[in-house]
Amino acid sequence: MKAVAVVPKKQNSVHLVEMEKPSVGDIKDGRGVLVEVLRVGACGTDREINNAEYGVAPKGFDFLVLGHENFGRVAEVGENVTELETGNYVVATVRRPRGKSIYDQIGEQDFTTDDKYYERGISRLHGYMAEYYVEDADFLVRIPPAIAEIAVLLEPLSIIEKGLKQASDIQERLKIWHPKTAAVLGVGNVGLLTVMALRMRGYRVHGFGRDAGKGYLNAELCEAIGAIYDSTAETTIEQSTEKYGQYDLVFECTGYSPIVFDAMQALNENGILILASVTGGDRKTDQVPSDKINQMFVLGNRAMVGTVNAGREHFELGVKDLTLCEAMHPGWLGRMLTHKISGLENFAEAFEILNNSGKFKAIKTYFEVSKI
Ligand SMILES: [Zn+2]
Repeated sequence: MKAVAVVPKKQNSVHLVEMEKPSVGDIKDGRGVLVEVLRVGACGTDREINNAEYGVAPKGFDFLVLGHENFGRVAEVGENVTELETGNYVVATVRRPRGKSIYDQIGEQDFTTDDKYYERGISRLHGYMAEYYVEDADFLVRIPPAIAEIAVLLEPLSIIEKGLKQASDIQERLKIWHPKTAAVLGVGNVGLLTVMALRMRGYRVHGFGRDAGKGYLNAELCEAIGAIYDSTAETTIEQSTEKYGQYDLVFECTGYSPIVFDAMQALNENGILILASVTGGDRKTDQVPSDKINQMFVLGNRAMVGTVNAGREHFELGVKDLTLCEAMHPGWLGRMLTHKISGLENFAEAFEILNNSGKFKAIKTYFEVSKI
């Protein structure tokens, strides 16, 4: 079978490989599930791995099959799989509990404290940019046929679901918390999915991006789902509170770290700021009003939390939001799937888009590996 792979730590090494098709017997205890890959999303993580910024090959291999944003159809199940059958649609989770930390041992590997982690398509395990993969049924989430067309968005959404779940867990300290307003910083594919998830929870949502709103598809999508879009070129997040009031929840996903300090000052009393950008650079910022920010956090019981990766429960929450959104705003999620690549052999097209995101204005680029 065909797969798209890189040689980790070697720049621009993305290439096609021929591999043996896996089989259900590769997983022990009869819990194996063979999945025919239908669609795989491509994102900044794949671009960064191809840029040799990170990525580790599995033991015994000098290449790593890419792909973590997956959607497929069950082709065969092992004898001890009762929860899935041939023909079911599934999405696989990404991180596996292979580490030594207590969190791995209790199945909360998304909170691992180990430096070495095991993530399909990213670190030490092959990914899903292949015609087939095999996985333990424990790591597969069943997808209703009604959302098959957009289920490739579930993996990126799972990260957001984890962030929102952590926020509500933390806010339980307040005994009563009825958040009404939220700001989402960044309206790329992660930001738009966050806007969606918050709208499904009934928040009044403000989306912020750098681009002017007029003629900008991402801004139009914000408004089509009942959110308000503003350009930070005109109004900073902090300034926006003069117009809209402070926000009960702020979700940061711009990749531009200085904005965090702005976001901290836009938070309401008892509010929570969720940080979800991986900023691997060495950018610094000054002119931070540290007394003011510190006082706001202390006197206003404000909170801030970082979030990464996702567990099975967050994928399951995501299935519910995708289904609800498709019912309430039919076709909205489909508009996010802007760039389709037909067949894994055309991987160069996908990387051309990922490397020139400004030019292509892509929201989500994905491979159609096989027809639904
Ligand atoms: Zn991704």
